[in-house]
Amino acid sequence: MRKISMKLAFYFFIVVFLMEVILMFYLHQNMLQQQTEAELQRLMTAGQNHRDVLQQQYTATTLEHIVLMESNEERAVIIVDDEQRVLAASPNSEQQLQQLPTTLTTEQNSFLTTDWQQQLYIISVHPFETATQAGYVIMFLQTAPLHSMFNELNEHFILSGLISGLLLLLAYVLLSRMLTKPLIRMKEATERLSKGQFSVKLVQKSNDELGELANAIETLAQDLQRVQEGRNEFLAAIAHELSTPLTYLSGYAAVAKRPQLSEQQRQQYLTIIVEEAASLKQLVHHLLEAAKLEEPQFTVLKQPFAVAPFIERIATFVQPAFVEKNIHFTYHYEQDLMMIADEQRLEQVLHNLLDNARHYSDAGSTVTLTAAAQHGRIAFVVSDTGIGIAKHEHNAIFERLYRVEKSRSRRFGGMGIGLAVVKEIVEAHDGEITVHSELGKGTTITIWIG
Ligand code: ADP
Repeated sequence: MRKISMKLAFYFFIVVFLMEVILMFYLHQNMLQQQTEAELQRLMTAGQNHRDVLQQQYTATTLEHIVLMESNEERAVIIVDDEQRVLAASPNSEQQLQQLPTTLTTEQNSFLTTDWQQQLYIISVHPFETATQAGYVIMFLQTAPLHSMFNELNEHFILSGLISGLLLLLAYVLLSRMLTKPLIRMKEATERLSKGQFSVKLVQKSNDELGELANAIETLAQDLQRVQEGRNEFLAAIAHELSTPLTYLSGYAAVAKRPQLSEQQRQQYLTIIVEEAASLKQLVHHLLEAAKLEEPQFTVLKQPFAVAPFIERIATFVQPAFVEKNIHFTYHYEQDLMMIADEQRLEQVLHNLLDNARHYSDAGSTVTLTAAAQHGRIAFVVSDTGIGIAKHEHNAIFERLYRVEKSRSRRFGGMGIGLAVVKEIVEAHDGEITVHSELGKGTTITIWIG
């Protein structure tokens, strides 16, 4: 049974079938018992009445009357004396007589036999006694009508069993349509997904769990498509970023090899090669960092440290790069500040932010780094008066591989990884990051850690 619809139908069928069998059996037995009990009761009451009348007035007319009353197809009566000689009897009652035992000893109204399934008659005995005569009123009820009622009841139950079986079949068809069709459609959709066809659209969605599942599959398809596109872009960006410096490297290396070159020129070309190699290394380092952040075991190692020497160290490191580009770099911090964070990762964050500030600012502008306590946390602010970022890009710049306008990134380089790394490190610290920026005026990025 590989199909879910078959399984469902099977379990459904078994459960309903069992329920039905139990219920029908109970109902059948109950009805039968009630019917036979009612018949027995009627026989007993009639016998008692005849006996009472006889006790009150034992005459030939009474006997005649009783026999007349009980002379029908189903019932018969035989009245005997205490020696079991017949005093009066319904016509054609020889057969009934044979059913009687040779001696009757009953002293009260009782049944001689009630086994309607095995016997031809149900027999009740009612002793009477008057001053002149004692004996028994014996009542006979044919069991044949009970048998035919039993058969009729069976027929009804078989018929209703068949009808409910048909209904069950109908329920199976409907159930399999309602439940398994959407499941099969979703299965097909996921198969298409695994083949790389991401344009999945599931029609006729219900608003139950199946509908939610269908929505989840559609979202998954969109996410996969985005990831796929992102990966393609990523590869294209890497290829592009690596190929430019490599072209330079191979070009300059070829030139540096020329024998007629002066020592000074050779040194110049070698310096360019060293610089390009360094920037390549930086690029690869960024890529590795980005890949590392994807790993699930990425954790930050928080330790207490003083903010002042931390900022001083960073400032000393970045200062020469700013000087080279003729950008004014200043920094401020509150004395005696302590914080708990992963110092190395935080340093990487500030390096990336300062690198961007320098990258996207022209000569003559100003870049500022400040560190201050704010609401129990430490706020680091990197502010520049550079080219700025348009408002609609503010959220997107934190996405991996996002670069503001292709033309701009071509001019400025960069891979759109720096800020994604920054954001992930800040979030791993349960920190916050905000950006305030205006095109042509500058950018301020603030992070809160602590
Ligand atoms: P990249 O390596 O391209 O700099 P980032 O993730 O660091 O990647 O930055 C994403 C984009 O945000 C950059 O392409 C750039 O256009 C923009 N950006 C980041 N920082 C600044 C800034 N200080 N001033 C202007 N634009 C910025």
